[in-house]
Amino acid sequence: MIDEKFSRRQLLQGALVGLAAVPAATLIARSASAAEPLSETDATAKSFGYVADAKRVVAASNPNYKPGQRCANCFQYKAGEAGAADGECAIFKDKLVKANGWCKVWMLKPGMTLG
Ligand code: SF4
Repeated sequence: MIDEKFSRRQLLQGALVGLAAVPAATLIARSASAAEPLSETDATAKSFGYVADAKRVVAASNPNYKPGQRCANCFQYKAGEAGAADGECAIFKDKLVKANGWCKVWMLKPGMTLG
């Protein structure tokens, strides 16, 4: 009888711990997906000349731009899931930048080459 109560108590405690973990996991999942894409019309994005597609960089007004430069090979970029079209940028916190994007502070990620 004592063993049965003990195991029932343990079962209830385990269930409560499990229930408590569900909202925490939900919050984590929500915060991970809460980041919105960075808009080219965002005031900060404009000041950095961000474009969602590096093929649209105007070379005349961005003389430092070289073909092959894009967010995916930038020092500030942190890729999302493998093959993801966007990821995080240390400059634009809480926003997602396109892997094929570009801005004026692009800097080659160590160990990468253009090409
Ligand atoms: S700093 Fe790098 S990763 Fe961030 S938007 Fe500019 S080019 Fe893309």
